[in-house]
Amino acid sequence: MTDRTRGGRVSGGMPQKQRDALTKRALAARDQAYAPYSRYHVGAALLTAGGDVFTGANIENAAYPLCLCAERVALAAAYAAGHRDIGAMAVATTTSPPASPCGGCRQVLMELAPDAVLYLCNPDGEVDETTVRALLPRAFTPSALDNGTAGNSGKNPRVKATRPRAHS
Ligand SMILES: [Zn+2]
Repeated sequence: MTDRTRGGRVSGGMPQKQRDALTKRALAARDQAYAPYSRYHVGAALLTAGGDVFTGANIENAAYPLCLCAERVALAAAYAAGHRDIGAMAVATTTSPPASPCGGCRQVLMELAPDAVLYLCNPDGEVDETTVRALLPRAFTPSALDNGTAGNSGKNPRVKATRPRAHS
């Protein structure tokens, strides 16, 4: 379900110039990774509907389960600044082909940026274009809580209270 593009060619989601700018930001964000344990540096850069870019890098911890992925750091930065409408995210590694978001990040992306186009890239100019929905088919989404909560008459008040818009 991913469209592979190599250097130069235009991909589907956004103008190539804009895509290249976003992947460049993701590649640069790798420099801020704190990854003394894995030494696997990941950068992420997301683009909001308003044209703002937020970046993230993986932040590890000696207590391994507390490691943060670059994608989630970027999403948290955007959300903390009040941005909710995220159209695209570039994720940069040195892996070839470019590495895909982990399962945990796919779930978080589905929650916070379900309509985003993803550009998985590396310093060699490889860019794999995909979407959050393509990476996580049949996802568990907030709508599942609407009808699945014990004692709930059909709507989950927590979801309604915290979510500005509904996702399918
Ligand atoms: Zn992850």
